[in-house]
Amino acid sequence: MQSGLVPENIKEEIKSRCDIVDIISEYVSLKQRGKNFVGLCPFHDDTKPSLYVSRDLQIFKCFACDSAGDVFAFLMKYQKITYPEALKALAERCGITLPSTYDSKESKISEELKNLNKFAVQYYQKMLFDNSLGNQALTYLKKRGIDDNIIASFKLGYSLPNWDSFLNAGKKAGFSEKILLTGGFILEGKKQGNYYDRFRGRIMFPIFDVKGEPIAFGGRIIEAGESDAKYINSPETPLYTKSKNLYNLNMAQRAIQKEGFALLVEGYMDAISCFQAGFTNVVASLGTSLTDSHVKLIKRYTDEVIIAYDSDKAGAEASARGMNLLIKADVRVRMLTIPSEKDPDDFIRENGADAFRKLISSAVDLVEYKIDRINKQIGIDTAEGKKKAVDDLVSTLASMGNLVQRSEYVKKSAERLNIEEEYIWQQLSKIGAGKNIAKSTQPTIKTSSKQTARERIERLLIECLIQCPKLVSKTKHLKKEDFTNSCHIELIELLWNNIDESKENIELGDLINNCSSKEARDLISNIIAKKLTLKKNLLSNIEDIEAELNGCIKKIEDFRKRESKLAILKENTADKITISQALMSIRKGK
Ligand SMILES: [Zn+2]
Repeated sequence: MQSGLVPENIKEEIKSRCDIVDIISEYVSLKQRGKNFVGLCPFHDDTKPSLYVSRDLQIFKCFACDSAGDVFAFLMKYQKITYPEALKALAERCGITLPSTYDSKESKISEELKNLNKFAVQYYQKMLFDNSLGNQALTYLKKRGIDDNIIASFKLGYSLPNWDSFLNAGKKAGFSEKILLTGGFILEGKKQGNYYDRFRGRIMFPIFDVKGEPIAFGGRIIEAGESDAKYINSPETPLYTKSKNLYNLNMAQRAIQKEGFALLVEGYMDAISCFQAGFTNVVASLGTSLTDSHVKLIKRYTDEVIIAYDSDKAGAEASARGMNLLIKADVRVRMLTIPSEKDPDDFIRENGADAFRKLISSAVDLVEYKIDRINKQIGIDTAEGKKKAVDDLVSTLASMGNLVQRSEYVKKSAERLNIEEEYIWQQLSKIGAGKNIAKSTQPTIKTSSKQTARERIERLLIECLIQCPKLVSKTKHLKKEDFTNSCHIELIELLWNNIDESKENIELGDLINNCSSKEARDLISNIIAKKLTLKKNLLSNIEDIEAELNGCIKKIEDFRKRESKLAILKENTADKITISQALMSIRKGK
């Protein structure tokens, strides 16, 4: 692993202060099971908890997709950041200062962007409250029934209508045009080097990440002119990816866990209205269809989503892929129908929170919603209506990974449509989702069946060393040629070169990070798996491990002796039978 300029002791210090269970818990809900913690793996489409985290070993391991490593590896993979960035994030978290020369270029840019966004939040807030032009924006918000507390919690603001107010303020505060441009706050005019503000005369909605750091903005026009878009948003920046963020998740996460479901709305104003009306578990997708990343994000907090889009949008979304992604991830999707094509914001303002609560309790699941919709559009009594409904349903039914659940919904749908179940199954079969579906992944420890006796001994030796790194010195007289499997060679060399024999325990995460081949990583990850699943270590005390190791060393030495004997034989005799007998015994490992 490239530790860059960070001294080893600082890295160790970070690791010792950032407990892997605490860190992973921030992203995945973990439950204790025996000595380990388990949760849904964020790195694959996990439906049963496959992710194991060990406090003792300070590592994580997924039994389904084989992701494994230490706390740095988790953060790198999860946040898609580089090793230096992960190191920096954790150092910051535990209050350790890294040598200043260490900052990488990317992390410097994101650092600057973070500061810029913070500055922008304060600047726009100031314009809303202190500037006379901001007054009309404030009046507008009040007229829409948004109270002062909510304006403050959502950190709403206002951008002045001039072409260069933010540009000048930003520059004055020390931000370069380049960073203002990267952050999406300014645009380049027709003339090169001529910049102007992206957001002008708009109510500003900061978008925060899960940790509550501002990363982007949405701006709403107050009085729409003909050529103005009602909303404009920040473009994607190194800090902000549209498909990976949900508006208000920073404030909604606890409520989602408490309520047991997330209320998904479309826009800023919907989210704010719901929040103010007491539905604090509300998040907004901000007009984009749900992506895999959104689903993973939601799945971290809950297994149920209630969709409260306005009717047109809900209809369109229901047929889109996003809803099926939720179903596929085993999230229960219920659809809320808002009467007379209103959005949640309008509905709550006109009818109040209690009426909205009633709507929520009457939300129906996606299958039922789809049938209702076709029924309203063309009716489900005709052959045409029935066919259309089934066509619309199959993608959703096919997304259900659980055959029992799928069968149940096929049955329900058939009853409702008054058709044979078999017809729906036929349509499902056409897209490969018939009654015979592949079994879902069970946590299993992979073992290669084609291992030779010699390979098994090599592997056992490596396992012993990983269990007890103190013993590494006992194997240093062996040569890498004594190992026959390339993956074992890589590992034994790693162990020889990197193990601090004075240590009681080995940093398995480090070891994984150091592996260059996937095979070697998988092998360690499987050893970790073994350690995690055994209630007691197979070899519980050091004497046993040492005895086992000695046995392995002796056998490997024997192999070597016999090999050299064979080489001599080959040189000196033409006796094919003797050679082949010697060969056989080597292969059998006797
Ligand atoms: Zn996984």
